[in-house]
Amino acid sequence: MRFTEEHQQLRRTVRDFVEKEINPHVDEWEKAGAFPAHEVFKKMGRLNLLGVNKPEEYGGLGLDYSYQMCVTEELGTCRCGSIPMAIGVQTDMATPALARWGTHELKKEFLAPAIAGECVAAIAVSEASGGSDVAAIKTTAKKDGSDYIINGSKMWITNAAQADWLCLLVNTGDGPVHANKTLVIVPTKTKGVEIGAKIAKLGMHASDTCPVFFENVRVPQRNRIGEEGMGFMMQMVQFQEERICGAIGSVRGMDRLIDATIEYCKERETFGQPLIANQVVHFRMAELKTEVEALRSLCYRCVEEYINGTDATMLASMAKLKAGRLAREVSDSCLQYWGGMGFTWDNPAARSYRDSRLLSIGGGADEIMLGIIAKLMGILPRRKKS
Ligand SMILES: Cc1cc2nc3c(=O)[nH]c(=O)nc-3n(C[C@H](O)[C@H](O)[C@H](O)COP(=O)(O)OP(=O)(O)OC[C@H]3O[C@@H](n4cnc5c(N)ncnc54)[C@H](O)[C@@H]3O)c2cc1C
Repeated sequence: MRFTEEHQQLRRTVRDFVEKEINPHVDEWEKAGAFPAHEVFKKMGRLNLLGVNKPEEYGGLGLDYSYQMCVTEELGTCRCGSIPMAIGVQTDMATPALARWGTHELKKEFLAPAIAGECVAAIAVSEASGGSDVAAIKTTAKKDGSDYIINGSKMWITNAAQADWLCLLVNTGDGPVHANKTLVIVPTKTKGVEIGAKIAKLGMHASDTCPVFFENVRVPQRNRIGEEGMGFMMQMVQFQEERICGAIGSVRGMDRLIDATIEYCKERETFGQPLIANQVVHFRMAELKTEVEALRSLCYRCVEEYINGTDATMLASMAKLKAGRLAREVSDSCLQYWGGMGFTWDNPAARSYRDSRLLSIGGGADEIMLGIIAKLMGILPRRKKS
């Protein structure tokens, strides 16, 4: 990956933004269980940070995904995982399919304001009955004249409490489960959409997560993204950016925590010497740094394939898997060396320990990544047809 001056400039812009507009408020927003998404997104929109790889026609910068990757990587300088995740939903989870397959009218109505930061978007795929098995979703959209009537519910929807629209995966037919699904844009103000109470979570506290219920929700069929029945395929493609975002988004946070832990271990003395002087401690820090660099390289290689148009599914799944596991290892190891301090609520290792746990679950759990990798390796046993 060769970075240009434009990449570096973009990185500086994001780091400055995080330092000025996000980090001073993180503790307050984490305590409040929410951050003002409209306010933050508007500021990001003014800096062109929400549509870096989106078409210029809709307000984006029209750059390739390596630039978006730099934005995501630098958002990792936030002192929490929740706000980068909420931003990632807007840029890498709820809008890629719309940008790629939406009609001009749909993009004007929903993509352009998302890029400008004038609205908040959410991706609504998972359901209470199961998130890993996307093909098994139950929410339906039935045709009625030129509209769809939507019934069902979604679970675990990030940004839902503040979202203006949802990129919603629904069943539009009774056919085979991989060919009966469609992505539809649903404004949350539509009659029959109910956003449930915020879910109390282990971590990611400044990000709101809610169930969403649909009762006879009428939306025009022109809100459909691409062709009917192609939703499963589109969502699988949309997952690529979500997974790359999750993986590269974790790297700076790990760097930051390792650095903070090293600083603490230089100051903290036990048995007459700084903690860092113990070989077990400085070797562990060196080992973790090495692992983080390996993950960073894997992410860069994956993005190189992605922007070259090669199928990046294997590397994206590997990067997501590795990131989830490494984030848990880094936060657990670092927390250990903060001792009792690491066990206190506001400690950076404790927050990372809580936040990073999601990475092995959301956007496809570790086992789902392993299934994809095994399938692409040709070693996943075929299921017997019943
Ligand atoms: C904070 C948070 C935010 C989220 N945000 C969103 C969002 O914005 N939009 C959205 O659509 N979804 C969102 N999700 C949902 C998330 O993607 C799902 O939780 C995830 O896909 C797992 O689905 P599940 O919780 O139903 O677990 P299940 O599908 O019930 O799986 C449970 C566990 O079983 C294991 N498992 C599953 N299948 C297999 C298998 N085949 N082999 C072996 N082991 C297996 C895995 O370890 C998995 O974690 C969010 C979740 C959380 C917690």
